[in-house]
Amino acid sequence: MHSLLALTATALAVAPLAAQAQTPQPPQAQPPQATSARAPKLLIAISVDQLSSDLFDEYRPRLTGGLGRIASGTAFRNGFQGHSASETCPGHSTILTGAHPSRSGIIANNWFDLSQARSDKAVYCAEDERISGSSSSNYTVSPVHLKVPTLGELMKAATPATRSVAVAGKDRAAVMMSGQRPDQRWYWNGKAYVTDLKGVAVPVSVAAANQAVAMLIAAPGLPLSLPADCTAKARSVALGDGKVSVGTGRFERNAGDARGFRASPAFDGMTLALAARLIGEMRLGKGSATDIIAIGLSATDYVGHSFGTNGAEMCLQLHSLDRDLGDFLRLLDAERIDYAIVLTSDHGGEDVPERLRLNGVAAAARTRADLTPAAIGKAIGAKLGLSGPILIGESANGDVYIDTGLKAADRRRVEVAALAAYRADPQVEAVFARAELERVRVPTASPDKWSLAERARASFDPRRSGDLVVLLKRNITPIADPSRGYVATHGSPWDYDRRVPILFWRSGAVANDRAEAVSAVDIMPTLAALLGIRVDPSSIDGRCLPAAGIARCPSR
Ligand code: ZN
Repeated sequence: MHSLLALTATALAVAPLAAQAQTPQPPQAQPPQATSARAPKLLIAISVDQLSSDLFDEYRPRLTGGLGRIASGTAFRNGFQGHSASETCPGHSTILTGAHPSRSGIIANNWFDLSQARSDKAVYCAEDERISGSSSSNYTVSPVHLKVPTLGELMKAATPATRSVAVAGKDRAAVMMSGQRPDQRWYWNGKAYVTDLKGVAVPVSVAAANQAVAMLIAAPGLPLSLPADCTAKARSVALGDGKVSVGTGRFERNAGDARGFRASPAFDGMTLALAARLIGEMRLGKGSATDIIAIGLSATDYVGHSFGTNGAEMCLQLHSLDRDLGDFLRLLDAERIDYAIVLTSDHGGEDVPERLRLNGVAAAARTRADLTPAAIGKAIGAKLGLSGPILIGESANGDVYIDTGLKAADRRRVEVAALAAYRADPQVEAVFARAELERVRVPTASPDKWSLAERARASFDPRRSGDLVVLLKRNITPIADPSRGYVATHGSPWDYDRRVPILFWRSGAVANDRAEAVSAVDIMPTLAALLGIRVDPSSIDGRCLPAAGIARCPSR
């Protein structure tokens, strides 16, 4: 059976890659080389959104496609997005900058700036809130919040002929992996692949991809057939008060259902097809300098949020991703591009609590509806005789801000009361006041050894973080009601959300399975060493990984 990617690439017959899509593959002739001093012509950085190491470990024996091929090189199964706010924007900001969120400034998907003039005080990580009309929900996409350079920026500074490109299912993935002034940056906005870059003409490959995706969404989505190993997972699980259930979905959808498309394997197929087409059209990897393309594959995350991680839906998604990645790599091979790949994730994820309990995780639960900054602030306000919003925050966990409209003395009373309320809550593991986190050093030890305070410190920026940082207990899902949108999520400081695979692959790679804990911030200095780009160690948090076997690390 053809995958969507192969069909799409053929349907998009506009650039040289398409002509190659159906030709037989030449055998791989390159000799094995554990360490190469030769820089590749194309660096491919792939983020699979919400691909936890728990999922990677479980599915790895059955990955026979592109994901399996990439895992057959150097595979760090204990990679870490070490910071506590294990969300998409922070996670993507670490991968190609070598910087923790505490340095990059990307502390969360959304934070609050109570001093700004607009009525919406929330700020989206990849927006420019100074642009008139931008809001946290209807935002003007921009990299302005990212305080550190990406590898693509360093490559272009060292060699101006380098092209830096990003293609992703989410704007924040594309923006945080490419940073300032890439040559091309395309991301899905719910209807089409669009860009925030000014004065960039729409490439033929993007126009063709948008035409193909519009046709795909306009048609009904037929249910996918279940591979044998997914059948055992196809068991219906009722969520919350029983209004919704998950577990047996096969991505059947109505004509015109763009949200259903987004939470289905076809979405990654489209993004990969666009990436392949753009590589062909721009002739990436064929120029005088090394080029870089960052690819954000978002469907795994939408599938996890919509169906949880342990049903037939995720099983279908991972098999489809594996197959589509295989087709993508074969297209590059047919073009004889000398590429190196790193594949990782922005964060892990956890299953729905209802199925976790069926699988023996007795502590799994949803947050109570009254465990929100608004509700806790209201109770504190009543007790202290204060009015106003008191506490501001978007979720039961993470950053909480104290109303800046209060007098200083009242703010202190609110802080004391809020710390006490959170500490007494049976669903809360820890709460840190801003002053406490300011005294913690950004951790430099192995990320599996960090304390909770250190995890929170790696997510802390004094100008953007909350006055309090709340961390929920293990296996507590901060979605009180699963019938109103997402049913499962990530964002916790626990390893199911922090531990992600970090894979390096290049033609001729030899199997190199690694068990030691490494960090996503180690990726950038490792790739920089591969390219011969010097990075001041004091300007980043990561370190070059000699064990990756792809680069000679500088002595330090
Ligand atoms: Zn994500």
